[in-house]
Amino acid sequence: MVSDSPATRVDIHCHTFNGADLPVEGFVRRVVLRDKDWPGWVKARLARWADGLVQSPGLGYEPERSILQMMLDHPRRDLLLSAEEQVADERFNLQVEQDEAALAAHDPATAAYLGLAPRQVRRLDRGETSAFVKFARNLASSRLDVARRLVATYPSVDVFTPMLVDMAYGVGDKPLTTVAEQIDLHEKISSLSIMGRLTQRSALLLPFVGFDPRREQHAPGALGLVQDAVMHRGFAGVKMYPPMGFSPLGNDEPEIDGILDDLYSWCETEDVPITVHCNKTQGASNASNDERSDPAVWATVLDKHPGLHLNLGHFGGVRRTANKPFWPTEIARLARFDHLYADLGCHTDLLQPPGPNAYAEMLRGVLTGAGAAMRDRLMYGSDWSMLLEHPGCEGYVEAVSAAFPEGEHDRLLGGRALDFLGLGTVLNENGHRLRDRITALGADPATWFAPRR
Ligand SMILES: [Zn+2]
Repeated sequence: MVSDSPATRVDIHCHTFNGADLPVEGFVRRVVLRDKDWPGWVKARLARWADGLVQSPGLGYEPERSILQMMLDHPRRDLLLSAEEQVADERFNLQVEQDEAALAAHDPATAAYLGLAPRQVRRLDRGETSAFVKFARNLASSRLDVARRLVATYPSVDVFTPMLVDMAYGVGDKPLTTVAEQIDLHEKISSLSIMGRLTQRSALLLPFVGFDPRREQHAPGALGLVQDAVMHRGFAGVKMYPPMGFSPLGNDEPEIDGILDDLYSWCETEDVPITVHCNKTQGASNASNDERSDPAVWATVLDKHPGLHLNLGHFGGVRRTANKPFWPTEIARLARFDHLYADLGCHTDLLQPPGPNAYAEMLRGVLTGAGAAMRDRLMYGSDWSMLLEHPGCEGYVEAVSAAFPEGEHDRLLGGRALDFLGLGTVLNENGHRLRDRITALGADPATWFAPRR
């Protein structure tokens, strides 16, 4: 299937939440730093530092809601937008620079700031801590600044689908903002992007709403909130994170399976795409949760719901692992499902110097023979801002493109994502909803999607 709008560039996997939208203390300790070879108490202190940095009332719901509402109510001139973007940019760079310089100097003030003794700071890997500082500082920004930073980092991308995540049940910690508040703020940012009031250049943000079936189990109405976000608030799909401790189906509690089945049926009826974390990592609390997003289990979901547009995020892995079975190979064999996709978010082994790349070669190898049909389902995704932890992440579009021949770039960098979203050749219910919303907000869908033939 060839898309009508080959020039549109889509980042199908990215994030514009800030730290107040995440259960940060639990997330940093059990997810971000889980695989770092640092003592547990160092991780705990870094997690508390990051938590203190972002769980401040200034980054919560109300202050940002009023700013976004003001921006929605009043047209802004280009000059003002560009000045604001520049100021936010300079402030961020200065903060990161100061943190990095202080860390490099091993100075006692930074050590105290991180809650560590100076000799303990010296024991940390400086490159890693610098990247961590950048990552944490970004999460300590307003969502507006995070969204603008994403757009500025990837100037060649037209459409971004930022994923909200619901991790509270997995990491046993709570974000500062509720799911409803997050939906409200990210809807406003999406609307601003449609109205041309978010950034100086034209970029479209179509968010995905996070869902954990355990929230519906414990607080009925959570699924309704997700459905409302998609049907009436401009959300383009649903994001799920099984490694937080539930399976796509086949859970011990039949109630969880019932809730998931309801979600899948509704998504099938309304053409709502689902993106899931599918990589043997990030298992909350214990390593067995790493395996929760098993492609074999997703195949049972698709057997039952063949119309579901499903994106197995990260294409099953971000590096070659000795673990059998190798998930990318497993996923590549599932292309018999017409609407199964995968994205290349956070495949940082592609961020190498120009020239032959062993990882790219391995990827192409997976997509031959029995896996050949999957090659036309692979989508560009960055996983920014998670990618901020990796030096050179601003070159990710180029790095991913370089792994495939030029003739495939239009489909890889956008065409397949438009098909996944229902905005490609076949305009499904989801595509109609999104285009209608753009029109209703006074913009022309052709700004981002070529006119349909
Ligand atoms: Zn992600």
